[in-house]
Amino acid sequence: MTASQLKKKYLDFFVKKGHKLLPNVSLIPEDDPSALFINSGMHPLVPYLLGETHPLGKKLVSNQRCLRTQDIKSVGDSCHLTFFEMLGNWSLGDYWKKEAIEWSWEFLIKELNLDKEKIFVSCFAGDKDAPRDEETAKIWESLGISKSKIYFLGKKDNWWSVGETGPCGPDTEMFYDTGQKPCGSKCQPGDNCGKYVEIWNDVFMEFNRLPNGKLEKLKQRNIDTGMGVERTTAVLQGKEDIYQTELFSGLINKIEEISGKKYESNQKTMRIIADHLKAAIFVAQDGVGPGNKERSYVMRRLIRRATVKMKQLDIVPSKIIPTVCQEVIKTYESEYFNKESAYSIDIVIRTEIDAFLQTMHRGVKLLQAKTNVDGKLAFDLYQTYGFPFEVTLELLSQWGKLVNKKRIEEEFNSELKKHQKLSQTSLKKKFAGGLADHSQQVTKLHTATHLLHQALREVLGSHVKQVGSNITPERLRFDFTHSEKLSKKEIKKVEDLINKKIKANLKVKMEVMSLEDAKKKGALAFFNQRYKDKVKVYSIGDFSKEVCGGPHVSFLSEIGGVKIVKEKSIGTGRRRIYAQLSQK
Ligand code: ATP
Ligand code: MG
Repeated sequence: MTASQLKKKYLDFFVKKGHKLLPNVSLIPEDDPSALFINSGMHPLVPYLLGETHPLGKKLVSNQRCLRTQDIKSVGDSCHLTFFEMLGNWSLGDYWKKEAIEWSWEFLIKELNLDKEKIFVSCFAGDKDAPRDEETAKIWESLGISKSKIYFLGKKDNWWSVGETGPCGPDTEMFYDTGQKPCGSKCQPGDNCGKYVEIWNDVFMEFNRLPNGKLEKLKQRNIDTGMGVERTTAVLQGKEDIYQTELFSGLINKIEEISGKKYESNQKTMRIIADHLKAAIFVAQDGVGPGNKERSYVMRRLIRRATVKMKQLDIVPSKIIPTVCQEVIKTYESEYFNKESAYSIDIVIRTEIDAFLQTMHRGVKLLQAKTNVDGKLAFDLYQTYGFPFEVTLELLSQWGKLVNKKRIEEEFNSELKKHQKLSQTSLKKKFAGGLADHSQQVTKLHTATHLLHQALREVLGSHVKQVGSNITPERLRFDFTHSEKLSKKEIKKVEDLINKKIKANLKVKMEVMSLEDAKKKGALAFFNQRYKDKVKVYSIGDFSKEVCGGPHVSFLSEIGGVKIVKEKSIGTGRRRIYAQLSQK
């Protein structure tokens, strides 16, 4: 079975069970400053898991592209990638454990025809917070899984939470026995030795963690599941690692061909090159270029680390990058790329590599020359030569010069902290902060964005169209079409109009309807590609009407007031406004 067939089977299966198909959205989260990239199928659904009404209903299914920067260190093993695809099905307060598990089993056994003797599962072992998940184990047993294949593991493996507070609950993971030799007498699912590969996870969001650390039952219980496309494809094809499936084999062949070296004897290096370049290509396709901050820096790290690895195999990057781009785009074309993508992505990546190559050489020499490399030097290399820290660590370890890894890490991090402004620390933030983005500040600014949009249309004209927006708890950013600089007077007019509406305390109302009806009713819908049939429409009195996912305040007075702090050009015919909340 190919990966495409697997994806189609999964989506069809859950659609038949009453789920609505969600679009596969960009790796760049919309209006979510707390996360750099979408890292799971569940990620775009957080507001709905927290209780917002989803326009498509309570049972959803998707295939979602994901990027996990936190897995960069694991790349090179048989099953961890930075970029991968995740299939998932969700119940938003609808079905519960029994259906979720039964459907997982039915899909694995009846649809994928996997050998049930090779499937192992894990359940939550229980602790002071929450009980042992006997209920889940019983359901597995009732389906015919023997007790000896059910493992009870602790929080580290079988507990999911959105952050330190908020929704959480036990999960059950499904593993496939690859047939490899056990790693020892205690070899078991969850030990990551490679014998048992985790392919699917069903999460039961049952509790809410309060700020005092206590758990309470959630009002709306949700199911969230995630199945890895690459891992499951490898299992279905009996391949030892994900790089031997059609999702990577073309790429690995090219790397072998151009380097004149064999995959078997250069596995780890070739895997890293293939993974990192593929991830960089997908990040580029979603509109990010290499740079020094946040998402751009992740992309830079991916490209630079791949470059160092290419050098180790004596590959000339400029020779291989066009081929790599073509290969990745060919593999995924119908779903993600158009023919024009290949050329522009190729140029972006090659330009970054060329710039890095110029300094890389000097950096490597400097590292080689020192006998005792400390974290401060590693930081200078990072600052001056653009050496990602993990590259320095790897080179040192390769040369047998990595004496005290922990100390270097500590020193590097303390240097980094000194140099980083607070805004950049989000590089390290994981999804854990996901709740913060739906804080009150962000909600208020979100509603303020709708007000600004309509006010601009009234003051400047109806040619004003939203082309982008971004919200952090501190401010909103709004991009729109308009060709001239706004005068002081115009800015004041826009601000006054917004604040007049806030003062009038208009009510914000949400309705679910078809996109067609929404347009008929005059709702602005610039991101209309997101939902296929049903959409949410937010109206503010009779002032503004927009298709939008929410959330919003209920009454405008909650916003207080809005102040425009900056207006500038962002290219021909496009302007950008920054605005903040103010107390009026
Ligand atoms: P692992 O413990 O193996 O890192 P995980 O517990 O982090 O996996 P989940 O967060 O439960 O995985 O993600 C759901 C599914 O997505 C996994 O069962 C797996 O099939 C897939 N998956 C997760 N991380 C990766 C990755 N880095 N590369 C490829 N597939 C992944
Ligand atoms: Mg993981």
